[in-house]
Amino acid sequence: MAYDPNNIFARILRGEIPCKKEYEDDFALAFHDINPQAPVHVLVIPKGAYENMTDFAERASDSEIGGLFRAVRKVSAQLGVDGPGYRMIANIGDDSGSEVPHLHIHICGGRKLGRMIPQD
Ligand code: 5GP
Repeated sequence: MAYDPNNIFARILRGEIPCKKEYEDDFALAFHDINPQAPVHVLVIPKGAYENMTDFAERASDSEIGGLFRAVRKVSAQLGVDGPGYRMIANIGDDSGSEVPHLHIHICGGRKLGRMIPQD
């Protein structure tokens, strides 16, 4: 499936839709989730057009890949969750329930997060 340049995070990257920005550099933008699932819930996205982690791992340069993960590290420190701990989530495909087709890494923390995958 081709990358959809009009997905909501592409529009945030272009400045067409506002976001509560937490961090930005040449490789990544981090902003607070509009519907937080934890006291800290921030999304870190690459600036390039990648649908998900599979697409990113296949097509992104080593600099882009390193840049995204270094941004996650910086954001976790900036948010103060690197000490107490946090969870990274990257949903891929239908079974994950992924909603937005631009790679995003959720950083969730600020409380005990419980089971890794809720049983329902
Ligand atoms: P996914 O389910 O694709 O892994 O996660 C998508 C996330 O994007 C959800 O947690 C949802 O709340 C968040 N989200 C969707 N639309 C917007 C938006 O317009 N702004 C922000 N900041 N977050 C959004």
